[in-house]
Amino acid sequence: MFNQKKKIVIAIDGFSSCGKSTFAKAIAARLGYIFIDTGAMYRSVTLYALEHGAIRNGIVDEDALVALLDDITITFRFNPMRGASDIYVNGDLVEGKIRTIEISNLVSPVSSIGAVREKLVAMQQQMGASRGVVMDGRDIGTVVFPDAELKIFMTADPKVRAERRYAELTAKGDDVSFDEILDNVVSRDHADMNRAISPLRQADDAIVLDNSFMTVEQQMEWFDSQFERVVSAL
Ligand code: C5P
Repeated sequence: MFNQKKKIVIAIDGFSSCGKSTFAKAIAARLGYIFIDTGAMYRSVTLYALEHGAIRNGIVDEDALVALLDDITITFRFNPMRGASDIYVNGDLVEGKIRTIEISNLVSPVSSIGAVREKLVAMQQQMGASRGVVMDGRDIGTVVFPDAELKIFMTADPKVRAERRYAELTAKGDDVSFDEILDNVVSRDHADMNRAISPLRQADDAIVLDNSFMTVEQQMEWFDSQFERVVSAL
C-alpha cells in the first residue's frame, strides 16, 4: 500500500503520557519498522541507579550515577506477545519494573545528566543507523535524528493524559491516585522542557498531533496521509 522502497526514520517526540509509544508501536507494525522506546532506556538507567545506591531518599547522586554508567548494558529483544521489544539491563528483563510511579518521579533528574544522555543518544543513533525505525522520546527530532524524514510532535490535554496513565496503572493493580499521576505528568513536562541539555521542544520541521480526542484508529489514518506525503516526495 505504501511506497516502501526507501526506509526512513520516523521521530516521535512530545509530552509525557501522550500515547507516543502506543502510536509508534502501531506505526512500526504497519511498516515493518523497528520501534524504539527511548523513554524505557532513561527509565532503565534510573532503575539501575536506584538499585545500586546512586539515588537515596529521592535524591540523585550525580557523581555516583555517572560512575555506574559503564556497568550498564541495555539491550532490546523482540517479544511477539507484545508486538514490541522488551528492555533488558545486563541481561535482566526490567520491563515490568520501569513503569512504576516511583521511577516516573525520578527519571527526569536522571535524564538531565549530560553523561547519561551522551551514552543513550549514541546507542539510539546506532540502532537507527540503517533507518527503518520509529523512535519515540523527547529529543529524537531535535538531537538524535535531526535528519529524520518524518517528525511528529505529540500533545494532549494534561488531564486526558493523566486519565489514560491512571487507567493503565490501576489495571495493572498499582496503588496510585489520579492526583499523583496528574502531578507527575505536569512536573515531568516542566522538568523535561526546562533542562539545560536537549530540552523537550518541537523541532521546527515537526508536525503536531494533538490526540486528546482521537482514537488510535483515527491517529493511524492521520499518520497514513502524512507518511504518504513524505515518501512520495523522496
Ligand atoms: O517516554 P517516557 O515517559 O517513558 O520517558 C520517561 C522520561 O525519560 C521522560 O520524562 C524524560 O525525562 C526522559 N526522556 C528523555 N529523552 C528521551 C526520552 C525520555 O529525556 N528521548
